[in-house]
Amino acid sequence: MPSIAVYPGSFDPVTNGHLDIIERSAKVFDHMVVAVLHNRNKVPLFSVEERVRMLKQSVSYLDNVEVDSFNGLLIDYVRQKKAHTIVRGLRAVSDFEYEMQAASINRKLDPSIETFFMMTNNQYSYLSSSIVKEVAKYEANVSSLVPEIVEKALHEKYSQNKK
Ligand code: ADP
Repeated sequence: MPSIAVYPGSFDPVTNGHLDIIERSAKVFDHMVVAVLHNRNKVPLFSVEERVRMLKQSVSYLDNVEVDSFNGLLIDYVRQKKAHTIVRGLRAVSDFEYEMQAASINRKLDPSIETFFMMTNNQYSYLSSSIVKEVAKYEANVSSLVPEIVEKALHEKYSQNKK
């Protein structure tokens, strides 16, 4: 049976920190599904379609990675994909509390699905989509933080907003 893992998140937008987790976990699992969450609690900068498109372009060189989006309960989506693992990235202690809560509730909902945590590469430990947006808003250079297509999209988004 192939090992299938789902890496869920907002990816608003995808950063080099996310890509590092995707690339490394694609070596651990046979098939990875990167899943963009339609999150009604957060007001996103990019639409789900835009986030999916940027992710697809950024991971196109990885044969065993698929990009998708989902609504509703993560566990239901994971089952629907016939996956048994959820991948999450950990940056700092601050991520730990929320992640532990989420992993515990998911285990309660379906004990057959495991959450797999991958520690960030040190060089990305400070990196988040929100920090990237904050920096890009002031037109600072984000080229070392995100893929080129994201850099362009951020530039377009913020210059549009100024008009
Ligand atoms: P969410 O809203 O679900 O936290 P994010 O897009 O912010 O969505 O993050 C998705 C996942 O990627 C989370 O597990 C998060 O901890 C992880 N992640 C985000 N940035 C990094 C990074 N720089 N290094 C490693 N993991 C990261």
